[in-house]
Amino acid sequence: MKSILIVFFASILFNSCKNRPADQIKSDNFELVELGDGIYGCIHKFGGKAICNVGIVDNGKETLIFDSFLSPDVTEELLNAVKEMGLSPVKYVVNSHFHNDHIRGNQVFSKDVKIISTRRTKELIEEEEPLQIAYEKENAPARLFYYDSLYNSFVGDKQSREYKQILMWRPYYETLSNSHIEVKTQLPNLFVDSLLNLNGPNRKIQLISKGEGHTPSDLIMYLPDDRILFTGDLIFNKCHPYVAHGNISKWKAWLDFMNSLEVSNLMPGHGQIGPKELIDKMKDYLLDLESSAEDLVKNNVPLEKPENFLIPDKYKDWWFDRFYEYNLRFAFESLNTKKTK
Ligand SMILES: [Zn+2]
Repeated sequence: MKSILIVFFASILFNSCKNRPADQIKSDNFELVELGDGIYGCIHKFGGKAICNVGIVDNGKETLIFDSFLSPDVTEELLNAVKEMGLSPVKYVVNSHFHNDHIRGNQVFSKDVKIISTRRTKELIEEEEPLQIAYEKENAPARLFYYDSLYNSFVGDKQSREYKQILMWRPYYETLSNSHIEVKTQLPNLFVDSLLNLNGPNRKIQLISKGEGHTPSDLIMYLPDDRILFTGDLIFNKCHPYVAHGNISKWKAWLDFMNSLEVSNLMPGHGQIGPKELIDKMKDYLLDLESSAEDLVKNNVPLEKPENFLIPDKYKDWWFDRFYEYNLRFAFESLNTKKTK
């Protein structure tokens, strides 16, 4: 009798742990947002080490993880969350593009999990990651020291933008400082040319690539029945995007394509989940960047002076403001390249 009771209570305990609701999963690194039954966005938290946003989609048979964070430790946390919620086994990880914050969690998945990207993204990871990791080994500790000293000596308002900037960059550089020790690059091994369907009994999943945009090769995930779009870094919400690895004209074409899809909810690569209008906001940003670059050319303004890189008022409260100068410079150079062609 006693052993029957133990088995009974153990099974209750097991089942209650197995299907923990999403709102009970707590992490210092990401916020888990339920977008539908078996669909979640893991949104980077200020002060955490996730850095990018990650999507989780259970198609009823298999679970897919869209992007894999900067820190492998945070990806371990995400895998535990998938187990605790009782989702289908993880069978796929997608890398939307080659940037380090979207790929470095690849290493925590078991060998039977397929890592999906475009062929070009796989080549870029292979080429760029060794260089990037060597660069981080050399440079990240000094940046961490700088942000550590700001963090430890801060005495002002902890709700201020200034403090939040410190909270944002400190864990980023802390993670990069250890990348040469922790990161064991895992390359994608299943490729998307233009479309890959991963449909299951509960929903359709489409991985779509239209090539160059934010980087030389980008990939998005679309759930047509659920009207949910995971955009990778083709969309940032209230954050300056990083433009200088991509192609502004082709990026705008990507946004036009996304606008042609039926979308109710959209998870950007960085920033909060939002409505379809985020697509237009990103396009406006690129158009504004181009017109600012055109003004510089028209008025013969030298690029050397920092005052020529003032952020327009409408983007003053966006995060990652340090990217603006690189972006405007890149838009300026793209304009000149177009002219000389
Ligand atoms: Zn990126």
